Amino acid sequence: VTVADQVPTAEHLAVIYDAAARAYPREACGFVRTSGVRECVNAVETAGASTRTAHQGYTLGATDVLELAHSLDGDDPVVLIYHSHPDVGAYFSAEDQKFAVVDGAAVYPVDHLVIDVTAAGVRGARRYRFSPAAGQYVLFRSYEPPEVRGR
Ligand SMILES: [Zn+2]
Repeated sequence: VTVADQVPTAEHLAVIYDAAARAYPREACGFVRTSGVRECVNAVETAGASTRTAHQGYTLGATDVLELAHSLDGDDPVVLIYHSHPDVGAYFSAEDQKFAVVDGAAVYPVDHLVIDVTAAGVRGARRYRFSPAAGQYVLFRSYEPPEVRGR
């Protein structure tokens, strides 16, 4: 069993789902290590070159990218990068592939988790893993939506 198989824990998922629900209708983003979840600032709206809104994409800020890169050499590396898809489902978009893959190789040795969120709440998540054969990220596994509490 590798670290990548132990992340995300149920606790990690609860934090991520909460972040996705709070960010709605914008996209939440961040990353996950064994030690916990880091919620990142969605830099899409502050990146001058982009005319997209946070609803249509995400970009990790420079500080977040540095922390991510540095973590990969340490004993608590980032295992997963997550972001939410408000209202469109947890597919891995062409933009997502562009962010994650350069010249047929994964930019970072991590999986990507996409959270399906609507106004009614989180409907689950899909995890994508880089396939060297395909030269892109492909569906690795799905996660159930959180249990509805109360009622
Ligand atoms: Zn996306």
